[in-house]
Amino acid sequence: MNPVSKLSKGVREKGIRMFREDRVKKEMDSEKRVYFTVEGETEKHSVIFDKTRGQWSCDCKFNSMKGRECSHIYACKLFVK
Ligand SMILES: [Zn+2]
Repeated sequence: MNPVSKLSKGVREKGIRMFREDRVKKEMDSEKRVYFTVEGETEKHSVIFDKTRGQWSCDCKFNSMKGRECSHIYACKLFVK
């Protein structure tokens, strides 16, 4: 089993691809949160960065069910860097 903090190569590569293909959009930047949308292969996902907690979340199954960092979050991280 992979530790939660480690991203698999596949997740990273997908994130990099979405970032390069310009599929990440910043929708809103409020005092507490930043909202992004990421166009995935099949559907659009909402990614939120909670500034007060320093935490990322995404509405995809990979993130919400497994609690792992998904390719959408990784793409957004590349976007804000
Ligand atoms: Zn996701």
